[in-house]
Amino acid sequence: MQSKRPSLARVPAASETTWQQQYRDSITNIDALCKALELQADQLSVSRAVSRQFPLRVPWSYVGRMQKSDPRDPLLLQVLPHALEEQAAVGFGTDPVGDLASAKSPGLLQKYHGRALLLATSRCAIHCRFCFRRHFPYALQNPRSDAWRLALNEIAGDSSIEEIILSGGDPLVLDDREIMQLVEKLQAIPHIRRLRVHTRLPVVIPERISAGLLDWIERSELDIVVVVHVNHPRELDRGLREKLRALSGARCHVLNQSVLLRDVNDDAHTLVELSERLFDAGVLPYYLHLLDKVQGAMHFDVDEPTACAIMKEVAARLPGYLVPRLVREQAGEPGKTPVAFQADALSYPA
Ligand SMILES: *Cc1c(COP(=O)(O)O)cnc(C)c1O
Ligand code: SF4
Repeated sequence: MQSKRPSLARVPAASETTWQQQYRDSITNIDALCKALELQADQLSVSRAVSRQFPLRVPWSYVGRMQKSDPRDPLLLQVLPHALEEQAAVGFGTDPVGDLASAKSPGLLQKYHGRALLLATSRCAIHCRFCFRRHFPYALQNPRSDAWRLALNEIAGDSSIEEIILSGGDPLVLDDREIMQLVEKLQAIPHIRRLRVHTRLPVVIPERISAGLLDWIERSELDIVVVVHVNHPRELDRGLREKLRALSGARCHVLNQSVLLRDVNDDAHTLVELSERLFDAGVLPYYLHLLDKVQGAMHFDVDEPTACAIMKEVAARLPGYLVPRLVREQAGEPGKTPVAFQADALSYPA
């Protein structure tokens, strides 16, 4: 099918097929998921109506890390279209962090100094029910093909931008050849120094950390930061740990961000174990986000005093470098807002 390869490419086809096949074979049917987990749909309060708006999607590899016959499994809860999503709640909206107002050109968002975020694709390997972009109008913002050109022109014209963040959707849904083409264009812009990739794909399909991915990371002229999204220690099984070690051994920095989610990871023990397992995999914790108040995700919300109490306990048990920064995203602020949880940090501006 593909006859010509760009100069950077040296992509081994076999490993590509493996993750791409897994991506294609993901579960999108509630009954198939229930059957695999030996559960009845009526034990789970599933909503087929919400699944029509934001469909179920989860790779088998991730389902394989769920506990059978456990309707409260913390991995399952992250993907299950739940009846509670139908409830409207005050303060929960469709654009909770002001993404639309921050678009500089279609698919290019800038909120903070020096870094801009490129929505490289609208697709994801997993559909997380708490996703803050679950209502995002990708059809208007998706910068694939011609619109990438507009975004790249915009970036080239603003020398204050030093870092590009690939986001989406999940940028690693793109194959390594497509990403390399984009990386080549970015590194041709003199003021771009860093490339950051925010992704959950390798977490749910560890084979995404393929030879092709490691290859373009090794060869890129930019400094590369990969921020993976692991929310629960059980996501970090041996297969993922080995792949993450390979990634952290490459020429890049690997960080993790999580979302604090009720009934998934809202206790100190779980978060301590998460940080320790991340470290075993060569990954340092970066942010722990309070939930963005997106419509349909209210049942995941952990209030701020509870979050602070949990983090105080976490910080009392771990070395400082394993304590993620507790943050909230507030539209209009110049960066993520730190949430103070230590008694001696009360002097932070509120
Ligand atoms: C979260 C976010 C970033 C990254 O913020 P850091 O604090 O640098 O991790 C950058 N741009 C946008 C639009 C964001 O929402
Ligand atoms: S992988 Fe990220 S962007 Fe995709 S659904 Fe999950 S939280 Fe949203």
